[in-house]
Amino acid sequence: MKTYLPPKFFVDRDPNRCIQCRVCVNQCTFDAHRYDAEDDEVRSHEENCVGCHRCVLFCPTHALTIRRNPLDYRENYNWRPEVIEDIIKQAETGGVLLTGMGNDKGYRIYWDHLVLNASQVTNPSIDPLREPMELTTYLGRKPDRVEVEQGSPSLKTELAPQVKIEVPVMFAAMSYGAVSINVHESLARAAAEAGTLWNTGEGGLHPKLYKYGDNTIVQVASGRFGVHPEYLDVARVIEIKIGQGAKPGIGGHLPGEKVSAEVSMTRMIPKGTDALSPAPQHDIYSIEDLAQLVYALKEATNYTKPVAVKIAAVHNSAAIASGMVRAGADIIVLDGLRGATGAAPKIIRDNVGIPIEMALASVDTRLRQEGIRSQASVVISGGIRNSGDVAKAIALGADAVYIGTAALVALGCTLCQQCHTGKCAWGICTTDLALTKRVNPDIGTRRLANLLRGWSLELKDILGGMGINALESLRGNRLHLRGVGLTDTELEILGVEMAGN
Ligand code: SF4
Ligand code: SF4
Repeated sequence: MKTYLPPKFFVDRDPNRCIQCRVCVNQCTFDAHRYDAEDDEVRSHEENCVGCHRCVLFCPTHALTIRRNPLDYRENYNWRPEVIEDIIKQAETGGVLLTGMGNDKGYRIYWDHLVLNASQVTNPSIDPLREPMELTTYLGRKPDRVEVEQGSPSLKTELAPQVKIEVPVMFAAMSYGAVSINVHESLARAAAEAGTLWNTGEGGLHPKLYKYGDNTIVQVASGRFGVHPEYLDVARVIEIKIGQGAKPGIGGHLPGEKVSAEVSMTRMIPKGTDALSPAPQHDIYSIEDLAQLVYALKEATNYTKPVAVKIAAVHNSAAIASGMVRAGADIIVLDGLRGATGAAPKIIRDNVGIPIEMALASVDTRLRQEGIRSQASVVISGGIRNSGDVAKAIALGADAVYIGTAALVALGCTLCQQCHTGKCAWGICTTDLALTKRVNPDIGTRRLANLLRGWSLELKDILGGMGINALESLRGNRLHLRGVGLTDTELEILGVEMAGN
């Protein structure tokens, strides 16, 4: 069938610069550059270009420019080019439209409408270069009060397991199979170097990464891929995944082509078979059921590690979060509508879920109102872009954040949204052995550790500017936030005052 889809990008090859080296042909995994042996010339097939820019970066003579096709359909706010193209795709395939990465719609990004405070005449700011600044965070259930042994500094109160992280930023769940083993290794090593945690996602943990267990969060999802006693034992934290922000209410699907020998061994499923995680956990239909799984995992690991529960941020997150705390979750994870994924139905990704800022504020408020906020740490994810977002999240009530997309961008990802194809030109979202080598774990570790170091330094600057020397003092302190360009209702849900007040 002839496609009615125009190319999304134009590939401009400057003939005065091109030396016909064929680097672009080898780098492009989408067949947008081909060598024509008859004419001894490299030609563009721009209908295949996904705009990943790998060729632009690797062309030794800077001969290539990728331009977005302006697609001059007649202007129509309702029938925008993307809407038209999606209908054409479905008319040609008859299937569900899949996509990778997170929601790219123009929903309000509340981080950009929140501003932080700074000290001026009174309560002077602190110079982070000269004064010690504390970013250390402890994740886990805290007691409402502590009792000390009489005449001794020892605690009488028995503390639930706590996990110390040096920076309030962790790497979000990305499963082996969705991303390559070299990405997992880079995340694990960078987390170890920065004193934080990375998350295996739902695809199990490759045995060669067991040595990073102290910095590892292992996931238990509906598919139970790769879940066995050693997997639980080796981890620092166990996370039960109920939902994720990119596809609330929808299960996972790793196509059989991505289930290589190593992925099959790690996931404990036959090679080449589709790895399907059902939308629900079939043993959880109530908060009581969730409590049973939480305590089964605690029991299996001798009550030595915190158990987290992750949900997608949806309409009733505050009530759900309250139930999760009462079910024994030590850490609550909220994943907002900008959360990314290796593959999701586009219609779900773009139309389900709520902004993480709103979910966080309402969950923190509800847990405080119920007097149970200290019984669980709150971790958020879904579109955290920089240290400013981190600081605002902490002030809104988070204990720490997860970053996924930002970590992949640090590794080279250009958000081309082709993760579901398994052809990632940057070697990130693939299990193809040749492509996997495009991420060198030594370099990947360096880039990720650098990112965390840069954000840590900036966080210290932000705190110092506020006259605060410990992140703990910012946590949930919404007096340090003001809203700009928000309605009264939005300000009320966020629990912040309008700028100028
Ligand atoms: S990589 Fe650049 S110089 Fe080499 S063939 Fe492609 S466009 Fe030409
Ligand atoms: S991970 Fe790869 S395929 Fe996915 S958006 Fe990034 S560059 Fe594209």
